Amino acid sequence: MGGGGVADLVARARDGQPRAVARLITLVENEAPELREVMARLAPHTGHAYVVGLTGAPGVGKSTTTSALISAFRRAGDRVGVLAVDPSSPFSGGALLGDRVRMVEHVSDPGVYIRSMATRGHLGGLAWAAPQAVRVLDAAGCDVVLVETVGVGQSEVDIAGQADTTAVLVAPGMGDGVQAAKAGILEVGDVFVVNKADRDGADATVRELNHMLGLGAPRGPGDWRPPVVKAVAARGEGVDEVVAALGRHRGWLTDRGELGARRTRRAAREIEAIAVTALRRRMAGVADGRRLAALAERVAEGGTDPYAAADELLAGLTGGGSAAGRGR
Ligand code: GDP
Repeated sequence: MGGGGVADLVARARDGQPRAVARLITLVENEAPELREVMARLAPHTGHAYVVGLTGAPGVGKSTTTSALISAFRRAGDRVGVLAVDPSSPFSGGALLGDRVRMVEHVSDPGVYIRSMATRGHLGGLAWAAPQAVRVLDAAGCDVVLVETVGVGQSEVDIAGQADTTAVLVAPGMGDGVQAAKAGILEVGDVFVVNKADRDGADATVRELNHMLGLGAPRGPGDWRPPVVKAVAARGEGVDEVVAALGRHRGWLTDRGELGARRTRRAAREIEAIAVTALRRRMAGVADGRRLAALAERVAEGGTDPYAAADELLAGLTGGGSAAGRGR
């Protein structure tokens, strides 16, 4: 793709053309060499979207909740982007929806973009794949971007770190709270949603969560106390309360200057991830790959120590090496 191609694609995405938006996110997913130019062109048009992360164990109702949230935000007149990130899958094949069947009702709405993205095998991993895709949706005019994690594990926590507000979903049932604590999810949640509140034990789960949240670091006046909201996403119940809780958190972030601070921290992680990836690429480059191999032999034979070898390797990394795109 030539420079004109990228410029045109970005212009069409900014114009809100869904295929151009999808194409740009595919470039992100594939770590395409064009990304550098894409990001440069998008940068001046970003920073408007409010980014909400939704996380929780599989089956808890994230997809159902996301769909209900889309409806709520649409009623308020917002344009909505949805990124369903699957860190456990190597490719989405550019799937518009993947298996997010519960969002199908929104597919024909021109004010909604839904896209799944697979990040396993992405060299930058979640650290920059998700933020870059969010940037595409932001520049395309989305007022709200919902980032839903599809996979499981620690990556949920990583994704959560990339949102302005993170909603953690749990369902009633034994040990949910304990599991949440284990996954470090209590620390990242700004809003907790006990979904499937039509099931037994919802009040107990709410109590348990409130108790565990109370055990954390003491809060001063004006600090954010994550609310625990009950919902039955499948019936749309409690969704307005979830939206209200997200709105309160957003207001709190803005009033405290935390919104800018969070975004700056996120940008720092992203820059660092890109730089580290570039450094790895340089070390693995043809000449430096040989140098690393030679140094490794010397260390293995006791001819030098690993610190000295690392210094030597780094000293040899002069110039060159692009921070963007596979194969550069
Ligand atoms: P995800 O894997 O976290 O995205 O969960 P899904 O949104 O796919 O939901 C998993 C299952 O739970 C589906 O069969 C939903 O219909 C069902 N579900 C979602 N919300 C509720 C709810 O509030 N109550 C009940 N009983 N079932 C729900």
